Amino acid sequence: MYDDNCLFCKIIKGEIPSNKVYEDGDCYAFRDINPQAPVHILVVPKHHIVSVGDIDGTNSVYAAKCLEAVAKIARQEGLDSGFRVISNCGDDAGQTVHHLHFHILAGRSMGEKLV
Ligand code: AMP
Ligand code: ZN
Repeated sequence: MYDDNCLFCKIIKGEIPSNKVYEDGDCYAFRDINPQAPVHILVVPKHHIVSVGDIDGTNSVYAAKCLEAVAKIARQEGLDSGFRVISNCGDDAGQTVHHLHFHILAGRSMGEKLV
């Protein structure tokens, strides 16, 4: 379930401090240390999954729980004018932490669109 060498597993366990936004039995959410928007929150499953590319029938429930948490956090944080959800997968996407996470970005217009 946990990977001893994983930064986000250490954050979930409280071994590395974080600015917690939300937590339930399956998910943990905290503010990104290098925010790319006025609101930049990371939502991670408590179960170690490397990326979206590793989701399958044995672990998809954890990803679904994270998306439920995204919706709850958006309401909790009052992101009524919109937000963007991003999950980088692998080198070309620029994934730097190899524990599945969903970025929530909000608080400004996202401007030029990649998608
Ligand atoms: P990615 O590049 O998609 O893998 O996203 C990893 C994110 O984790 C980056 O936006 C980093 O700023 C963020 N990050 C790295 N270390 C920490 C930390 N200790 N606390 C909060 N966010 C972090
Ligand atoms: Zn992990």
